Amino acid sequence: MKTIESFIRDIHDFPKPGIVFKDLTPLLNNPEATNLCLQQLLTPLAHQRIDKVVGMEARGFFFGTLLAQKLNAGFIPVRKPGKLPYNTISETYALEYGSDTLEIHADAIQPGDRVLIHDDVLATGGTAEAVCKLVEKLGGAIVQCNFIMELEFLNGKDRLNKYSIASIIKY
Ligand code: 5GP
Repeated sequence: MKTIESFIRDIHDFPKPGIVFKDLTPLLNNPEATNLCLQQLLTPLAHQRIDKVVGMEARGFFFGTLLAQKLNAGFIPVRKPGKLPYNTISETYALEYGSDTLEIHADAIQPGDRVLIHDDVLATGGTAEAVCKLVEKLGGAIVQCNFIMELEFLNGKDRLNKYSIASIIKY
């Protein structure tokens, strides 16, 4: 069996010149590698009760829903503005140039719910930090934020130092 890392490919100059994008579609295209990745995300969560898994649009949906099934938890999508059909709350966060906003359904989390936050990549941490704020606004307790990949040189962990962080591959 090849390593999980061998199913992640580098795409140079995507989405902009100078960026090396970590593409996980070859991993998703292989059921054994997908299952191995899922098991590795689950390992640090053994014996933890999780009520809800929150996944970020769009690549957080892939393993987010798989994790929710395995943990017998509900899955909650966090989306870009205007995509969720019911009442939402939102959080705006700064980007290098400009800002971005994320939304969650206002009734998705009950106060005291134990929440796992999942995304494919932790880069600067801005996205995950905004999602943590949304979850906490609704009264959720964040058990862990997990990622398939962490781009350590961008120090995203520093913005999430209140939380438990786990990632499978560190670059
Ligand atoms: P951050 O907010 O931590 O700077 O960026 C993380 C978000 O950007 C995640 O939602 C993630 O999907 C996306 N992202 C940033 N860089 C990459 C990358 O190299 N590959 C993939 N697949 N997603 C990335």
